Amino acid sequence: MNLLADLLMHAGQVTPDAPAIEVPDDRVWTHGDLAAASARMAHALVGLGVAPGDRVAVQLPKSVPAIALHLACIRAGAVYLPLNSAYTPAELGSLLDDAEPTLLVRDQAIEHSVRCLAMDDVWQLSLESPEAFDDVARDADDPAAILYTSGTTGRPKGAVLSHGNLAASATTLVTSWGFTPGDVLLHILPLFHTHGLFVALHTVLASGGSLILQASFDPVSVVADLPRASVLMGVPTHYVRLLAEPTFTRAVTSGIRLFTSGSAPMLVSTHEEFTARTGAVILERYGMTETCMLTSNPLVGVRKAGTVGPPLPGVQLRLAGESPAGIQVRGPNVFAGYWRRPELRATEFTDDGWFITGDLGTIDADGYVEIVGRSKDLIITGGLNVYPKEIELLLDTLPGVGESAVIGVQDPDFGEAVVAVIVAEDPAHQPDPEHLRELARVHLAGFKVPKRIHVADELPRNAMGKVEKARLRAEYS
Ligand code: AMP
Repeated sequence: MNLLADLLMHAGQVTPDAPAIEVPDDRVWTHGDLAAASARMAHALVGLGVAPGDRVAVQLPKSVPAIALHLACIRAGAVYLPLNSAYTPAELGSLLDDAEPTLLVRDQAIEHSVRCLAMDDVWQLSLESPEAFDDVARDADDPAAILYTSGTTGRPKGAVLSHGNLAASATTLVTSWGFTPGDVLLHILPLFHTHGLFVALHTVLASGGSLILQASFDPVSVVADLPRASVLMGVPTHYVRLLAEPTFTRAVTSGIRLFTSGSAPMLVSTHEEFTARTGAVILERYGMTETCMLTSNPLVGVRKAGTVGPPLPGVQLRLAGESPAGIQVRGPNVFAGYWRRPELRATEFTDDGWFITGDLGTIDADGYVEIVGRSKDLIITGGLNVYPKEIELLLDTLPGVGESAVIGVQDPDFGEAVVAVIVAEDPAHQPDPEHLRELARVHLAGFKVPKRIHVADELPRNAMGKVEKARLRAEYS
């Protein structure tokens, strides 16, 4: 029994002629095509000496063969290890040392002892193989994938997601977000991150629906393909960029039944602008690499901007400690630990088995979770704690401020000083930092008021739209 393979391959069995993946300006792959391609690829992996439990690392552009390779790993019991396409060969080296994969699939070889093959070569090998494959039996606890966290600080950690975690997550999302075989998801996310891979791809495959595979995010291509889709999943930056595109109109979005956002917080003003432009309300949800999806605003019912909704079915979520309290979670979707880092079990999980997310939150009377910061973001200034998110939320409301990021920088007097970087709402009207500090002083205790406010053209963000605070700290300290 390989529950995850059964779930993702089900449509290949029952509706083999139904579309699975449309590659714009190219061809449509059916669920049957995908089942056959992944079976062939699974034979190729076995022929290359990949045994159950072995890691297969990939650093590849988005393509159907890359998706078939991912499915082949699940079917052959190998552990899929997707690597961020932004990683340099030097960064790759240390991850490969840590993960010790049997195989790396990457179009250019790198200097490393791991065996490296180009995607085309693996594809060619697969074409010589049969198009049926007996999926390797896996238990729910067996690892299916390792994802190095896209955390913006510290040494990368490989989160090990099990077959059970991924099957539970996909099943919950199909139901909670009402996916059916008629759905067409416009896929604009990278496939090396949990959002594009497990939230978007797996949910669609498990539902028997289809996706339009865009190579990367480009607002003009989104506008072109959106009329053929029913669902769009994005990060806040995608929505901000779409709103900056004049051809992104209500007519273009009228066929979309669901817009989701996550991976980073969406400003309430973006929610409002989106609704004013399209008439639609974005469904914001919250999850992590380590846990898959945790909470979601409802498909049917009130979606509250600024919150990430109640816990999804099967997910247990609690707050621990003093306000702002830490979010801890448990459930079939939550990973069991980091690759070869058993010592982290003691620090990242509680004694009674809950995962400590590192996010700080509140829960309102209706059970909706609001994320109010990251515990690791904490600034200690003159011995007092400052949570950047609190300051950012206030700065965002001040006149002329589009968005903000607050960091702690070394300070001889205070240990750390609170520093803000803001982006003007209108580039032609830059707010005066001193005036903003005066306004902030009306609302905030003196020690929380930023000692300095810098005005920048934009905030540095990673591929998932998260503000890179380490870069800001390096720049402004
Ligand atoms: P990742 O492991 O890259 O998916 O990052 C997970 C982290 O992203 C979470 O721990 C949160 O800090 C943040 N995150 C994800 N979704 C949201 C959201 N909707 N609002 C605020 N933060 C989010």
